[in-house]
Amino acid sequence: MEENGRVQLKKERKGFCRKLRDWFNWKRRARKQEGKNFIGDNVPVEKDIERVYCSDMVEAKLKNYSMINVIGQGAYGKVLLAESKATKELYALKVIQKNPLKPQKTFDRFRIEKKILETSRNNPFIVKFHSSFETPSKYIFALEYVNGGDLRRYMKKTGKLSEDSVKFYLSEIIVGLNFLHSMGIAHRDLKPENVLLDKDGHIRITDFGLSKIGLNGNKKTRSLCGTPAYLAPEMIGCKGYGFSVDFYALGIIMYEMLTGNEAFVYAREQRRTLCQRLFGKRKTVGITDISEEASAVLKGFLQKNPKKRLGCHPQSGFQQMVSMPFFKAIDWELLKAKKVIPPYKPPLSGRTDISNFNSKFRAQEPILTSESK
Ligand code: AMP
Repeated sequence: MEENGRVQLKKERKGFCRKLRDWFNWKRRARKQEGKNFIGDNVPVEKDIERVYCSDMVEAKLKNYSMINVIGQGAYGKVLLAESKATKELYALKVIQKNPLKPQKTFDRFRIEKKILETSRNNPFIVKFHSSFETPSKYIFALEYVNGGDLRRYMKKTGKLSEDSVKFYLSEIIVGLNFLHSMGIAHRDLKPENVLLDKDGHIRITDFGLSKIGLNGNKKTRSLCGTPAYLAPEMIGCKGYGFSVDFYALGIIMYEMLTGNEAFVYAREQRRTLCQRLFGKRKTVGITDISEEASAVLKGFLQKNPKKRLGCHPQSGFQQMVSMPFFKAIDWELLKAKKVIPPYKPPLSGRTDISNFNSKFRAQEPILTSESK
């Protein structure tokens, strides 16, 4: 048995390495063909980004805000709750540290995120953009402060959610996603941490740091990015993908909401490396205690073949989702107008109450200067 186990592992390791090598080779070839970097090459450079290189001016910009607390940490920097000294409005300041080794890449990511936030200004289910500015070491977004915490924190508190709650959150996310997709934007990092809850319990999709723009028509992209547990098979398989990856991630979120558990279980040795988690076989635990209607939607979103996946048809995808029996009770017009009452209202004791955010961030000193990290 032990011998077999070892042989098995050796074979598996060879398989992973081959897949990884293929992927890197493909990336190198594509890079050569294009003669430029991958992300955002088709995005025109915007001239309206405030380039504030003089450190006095930077301090002046930052002095417009009183920093209250650290409320989150993203891949590129922290998020702080701040109050505008002039208007007393609260904002979430999202900081993106510049990478001195890849300045163009960080700038590309910043301008893509800014473009998406500006495009989505009027959508009720996407975090609202206020302004952005730049210091010598960072880019900063001033965003609407969404004070109810994120869906992950709510799910941790409650365990599994009722089907009615799942229906509500899915519907609002679907409306937000449908808007993004109609603008040629794929989110690519949809997960409960990136779904915030406002003071009434409505959702806001946030974090467009990995999003892809310009996916109009049948355009496809191939970058491998996002969070391993939410990656769609077509992205892992380097087959070229479009918006379909967001619906697969939505399926995983639905599974997590219905069960209160992670969707995939990994063998012990698989958990050790990212490569094995990505390219190894993923096992799901079946769910028994859900309605047929919910099961049909879940199976639809988790279809391995993106052509058969629920929501992925370029013209009729939205209609297909809306007409699923699971969503029969939803009045989509009322929902879009934020007139459907959310199943949960986050507890808040005041406008600067940050108890809905992780205490490990809250404990950090809220310092933001042109030099601070
Ligand atoms: P991000 O860097 O966008 O992934 O944000 C990291 C974390 O900061 C999120 O998971 C949220 O908990 C928090 N956060 C981000 N944006 C906001 C916002 N506009 N309002 C409140 N919290 C936010």
